[in-house]
Amino acid sequence: MSIQIFGTPVSRGVAIGRAVLVASSRVDVAHYFVGPDRVPAEIDRLRQARDAVVAELTQLKDELPQEAPHELSALLDVHLMLLHDDTVSDATKQWIEQRHYNAEWALSAQLEVLARQFDEMEDAYLRERKADVEQVVERMLRVLAGSSPAPGAPPPAGGPRDFGGEDPLVLVASDVAPADMLQFKRSVFTGFVTDVGGRTSHTAIVARSLDIPAVVGAREASRLIRQDDWVVIDGDAGVVLVNPSSIVLEEYRFRQRQSELERARLNRLRNTPAVTLDGQPVELLANIELPGDAPAALEAGAVGVGLFRSEFLFMNRGGSLPGEDEQYEAYRDAVLAMQGLPVTIRTVDVGADKPLDRMSAHELRHEYGLNPALGLRAIRWSLSEPGMFRQQLRAILRASAHGKVRVLIPMVAHLSEIRLTLEALARARQQLDEAGRAYTAVEVGAMIEVPASAVIIDRFLRHFDYVSVGTNDLIQYTLAIDRDDEAVAHLYDGWHPAVLHLLQQTIASAQAAGKSVCVCGEMAGDTAFTELLLAMGLRSFSMHPARLASVKQRVLRADTRWLQERLPAVLAADDPAAAMLLLLRERTGV
Ligand code: PEP
Ligand code: MG
Repeated sequence: MSIQIFGTPVSRGVAIGRAVLVASSRVDVAHYFVGPDRVPAEIDRLRQARDAVVAELTQLKDELPQEAPHELSALLDVHLMLLHDDTVSDATKQWIEQRHYNAEWALSAQLEVLARQFDEMEDAYLRERKADVEQVVERMLRVLAGSSPAPGAPPPAGGPRDFGGEDPLVLVASDVAPADMLQFKRSVFTGFVTDVGGRTSHTAIVARSLDIPAVVGAREASRLIRQDDWVVIDGDAGVVLVNPSSIVLEEYRFRQRQSELERARLNRLRNTPAVTLDGQPVELLANIELPGDAPAALEAGAVGVGLFRSEFLFMNRGGSLPGEDEQYEAYRDAVLAMQGLPVTIRTVDVGADKPLDRMSAHELRHEYGLNPALGLRAIRWSLSEPGMFRQQLRAILRASAHGKVRVLIPMVAHLSEIRLTLEALARARQQLDEAGRAYTAVEVGAMIEVPASAVIIDRFLRHFDYVSVGTNDLIQYTLAIDRDDEAVAHLYDGWHPAVLHLLQQTIASAQAAGKSVCVCGEMAGDTAFTELLLAMGLRSFSMHPARLASVKQRVLRADTRWLQERLPAVLAADDPAAAMLLLLRERTGV
């Protein structure tokens, strides 16, 4: 049966593929293909993992003390039985043989199939047996994690598969933690759908950086879609079609080809300088999550990095944090990769929906109940860990010996935070001097993403070399809309007059003070806002490399004098988005 599911579009284009359902807790399982010649070796890994778990459980059972409750031994019997059950081992083998999944992926794919069968059982006792299967699979995954993968895996990032004929795949999950999204940079998936999340949730942001069509906040998607269903993800409209008719499928294939052609056409602008029709140069910078993203930024024609979200270096480390040298190497790598272009490194912004440990925003909320977006995050967290903060500042300063580095402080709201931050920087410099370490002058900037800082922007500007507007949070905090919450996603609106007012005030004040100002939130990469931001006087935009060409196209066609004259009318309109659209239509005559 064909169904449609609606969600929030976060990354443009059309993806068509077979669904791979991945449980939230298992997205960190390695997903890669093994070539046909590696299939027997992969099946062998699976067999060895099963044998190891059988041995482990048998030993556990043999060593059970006399007085142990009988249920425990019975439970171990059930687990041992499951390990020999065809629905686990044979079916898992088939995922490897027929789909060429690696062992871990095959195992978790089969777990998803079985979990659904259990969920649908009438009998409560049988339904609860799902937990047993999960425990057994968990044990096998642990063994597999310790075993070396089949030689040759995983395949190169984004590279073609070394065997033909397989269908493209799309990921369907209830939720994906931001840190887990990173591994999809090397992934086999051509699109994805999640049940939760909003337009600027960090999962959505990483999806956009991957430049694959995605829909979030699709609520029931992971329940309604089944493993292997054909799925169309319309990343423009936020619609997911499950098992569409062949006519609909053909229509989407046509649209997919069109958007690929459009993308290729846009990519030709790569080396064209971003200058408006009236000769205003515009700086288009890249947002990156890891040093490995820098080549893509260059490739897209970025003239620097406007936002390096350093927190991704801090995630999923089981409680340990990256030391000064490790951080320094990462920052240095990014600086060197950018070949002399400036790199803006934001100090760590953990907390809210970016916890240090693997936890999705959804789980986080369940776990803590409090509102993490208003809690100890970003600069608040850094200042509460002064040793860690100075360590990061030293690492960033050391990277400045290799190229142009700028430091960016997230979520500053209080003047006392500015004072403490500048003191920490001074102390970090002093420590480097004492240790005889090289560094050069770095510009220090503040992110304007809390309304309080936009309201008293003039006082902030006295202390910083530049400011960068984080519109994702500025919208969230101005409108009191949790950016991760799909239930209020329809109210999350960058066109809200209050947001536009703060934005305009920030840009105008920075320019009056002779300080540079950039926008590095998702708004900078959203072409719906390009003319508005240009009209406000913005000349520096930082976005995912994948968005750069589209924004550049809009810049090349814009006349800032013409836009500036019409800005007051747009801002005064009840619906500024519609007013802007109307103006642009009139101008182009479309
Ligand atoms: C923002 O808030 O706009 C921003 C760029 O920071 P982040 O999305 O990482 O919170
Ligand atoms: Mg932010």
